[in-house]
Amino acid sequence: MSMNRRRFINLSGLGITGFTISGFTNPSHVMDQKPIVISTWDAGLNANKGAWEVLSKGGTALDAVEKGVMVTEDEISCCVGLGANPDRDGHVTLDASIMDHEFNCGSVAFLERIKHPISVARKVMEKTPHVMLVGEGAQQFAIAEGFTLESEKLSDDAQNAYQNWLKKSTYKPIINIERSNKPNAQLEDKYKAPTRFDNGDWNHDTIGMVALDMHGNLSGSCTTSGAGFKMRGRVGDSPIIGAGLFVDNEVGAVVATGQGEDVIRVAGASAVVEYMRQGKSPQEACKLVVEKIRRIKKEKAAAIQVCFIALNKKGEHGSFALHNGFNYAVQSEQGSNLIESPFSV
Ligand code: ASP
Repeated sequence: MSMNRRRFINLSGLGITGFTISGFTNPSHVMDQKPIVISTWDAGLNANKGAWEVLSKGGTALDAVEKGVMVTEDEISCCVGLGANPDRDGHVTLDASIMDHEFNCGSVAFLERIKHPISVARKVMEKTPHVMLVGEGAQQFAIAEGFTLESEKLSDDAQNAYQNWLKKSTYKPIINIERSNKPNAQLEDKYKAPTRFDNGDWNHDTIGMVALDMHGNLSGSCTTSGAGFKMRGRVGDSPIIGAGLFVDNEVGAVVATGQGEDVIRVAGASAVVEYMRQGKSPQEACKLVVEKIRRIKKEKAAAIQVCFIALNKKGEHGSFALHNGFNYAVQSEQGSNLIESPFSV
């Protein structure tokens, strides 16, 4: 994912920001856009393609959000899949969740050596009476369901990032803030966080995806290795239904990325859905929850990133982030688009 992000930043250096891949715009206010899929970060552009193969053929949102994020789990990136940044003991531990249009949901956390945690989460949803399996139990379940135990192998990027981190081994469980797509000198000065890019590597990301299919049903998914160099056993927001992901088919679907602890403490994705139920647009709803986190964190908000993307029942979408630098990908019949998110500070 970091490589994708860098590619985008290079494009933005050429003055191409918020660009439209297909030449069509994909405005968030267009109603009755279905099918449609949106996902976090620029890795979402590829992930959306995987989802679109399902949606464009009349497939379900549930199948689309699983297939879509599997594309990112297969890619080499800093923060998703088996080659991602490890925990501070050097092991990659993965979190994932999935939710459909009928409040069925499944998740896995602290899962090791399984390539597609999102598919294990779906099996938890469909084959067990439970919502969440963790650690060794989740791995045992995956093996029983026919998943292969992979050998642990960090990607070169993750290995380098980990070796860099080991030099100091300082445990700062703070999610870095991305480089701005539109550099803003004032903002850079004012919000220089102490941990910001202390070694130039991204220390977090999640591919989160929500989709509305042609039948009018919503579903969502997310998958991540969580915060790089985290404490062993740390679980973020992504596998917590209501925090990192929430879907209410009457209203909308939401996923989060950024500092998971601060998403969990406000039941983030669920809170965004509730604001949409009250009539807020997806962007306004995301903004209200981000602003709440900012109020709670006070001056500490300067050092963390939190972002939400939301899609409502009409196919309207929006996002909001605490800081500059977040973007999300949209795919519909209008084309494919990467949108820079509005932000708070
Ligand atoms: N939310 C993820 C976590 O805290 C990380 C991220 O999305 O950036 O595990």
